[in-house]
Amino acid sequence: MSDILSKIKKANLVGRGGAGFFVAEKWLSVAKALESKSADNKKCFVVCNAAEGEPGVMKDGCILEHYAARVIDGIKIAIDFLSAERAFLYLNYAYHKKLNKKLASLIKDAKIEIFVKPINSGYIGGEESAILNAIEGKRIEPRLRPPFPTTSGLWGRPTLINNVETFYNVSLVAAGQFKNTRFYTISGDCPFEGVFELPDNLTVEKILKQTDNFPKFPFFIQVGGNVSGEVFNAKQLKRPASGAGAITVYSRAKNDFKKVVKNWLNFYVNESCGQCAPCREGIYRLRDVFMKEKIDWRLFNDLLDNLSDASFCALGAAAAVPIKSLIKNVYHEKN
Ligand code: SF4
Repeated sequence: MSDILSKIKKANLVGRGGAGFFVAEKWLSVAKALESKSADNKKCFVVCNAAEGEPGVMKDGCILEHYAARVIDGIKIAIDFLSAERAFLYLNYAYHKKLNKKLASLIKDAKIEIFVKPINSGYIGGEESAILNAIEGKRIEPRLRPPFPTTSGLWGRPTLINNVETFYNVSLVAAGQFKNTRFYTISGDCPFEGVFELPDNLTVEKILKQTDNFPKFPFFIQVGGNVSGEVFNAKQLKRPASGAGAITVYSRAKNDFKKVVKNWLNFYVNESCGQCAPCREGIYRLRDVFMKEKIDWRLFNDLLDNLSDASFCALGAAAAVPIKSLIKNVYHEKN
């Protein structure tokens, strides 16, 4: 086993993109996919996902702003490990505008190409397989899986996709400086909004307390982004926040239940890529049912379940998460 792979394995490094895969396993599956190819067919690619399109999540932007050299170093380590043809740094438009010069000066003549996320690609433009389509110049929508990108990604070649925070940590592991921290964006009705680097094993409650953001008023929170995160009430905070990336605080007085759900539904109506009916039609119908004076809860819940169970990609399932958890943990707690 290569030196860097054993270091990553020993560090138990988990990917910071949300799915929680062990990084060593992902890297190994790309390497294994390459092994099965003939000697003249061993082309592969690396992609760093810096799309960060979820409202309320700004941690990757913060890492790029303050630790760009680490991120570029982590990408170079992956290129070397796989002898990759090239890496793409898939960067959202705002980060590109702000950081392009700095990143280009760090990349110099390394085999890393900055690819700007198409401005009209929306939320789905950050989904792993839609990113591959974007780079290949195809319609930006999710791909059917399997095959997974590790075996058949860019132009059908094995492709390693990790996000910014993961490459940052790979660089720290290689340098012997990895301390298993996580970056959290904290926002909403709290005094100290921002991005915080904290130990991996903290509960949501501890994170809010350590950053002086624990509310002194009736509240609920959303863990994992403003539109796809799960919602919890104030008695449910002793849970680990690992992998969440963001915590949003909502004052109960300032956030009407109906307005919050309507905002989420409006977001998803606009962002659905339209490829599958449970999401394209389902979210539209959900909003319709929800906006009636008297809500048909049975129909509403059926549509939500269908969205969770039958959507083609993770975006559809993710759309149901905040709504279901808000109803279960906050609405029913209050009424
Ligand atoms: S769930 Fe379906 S319509 Fe919604 S974004 Fe994914 S593929 Fe597109």
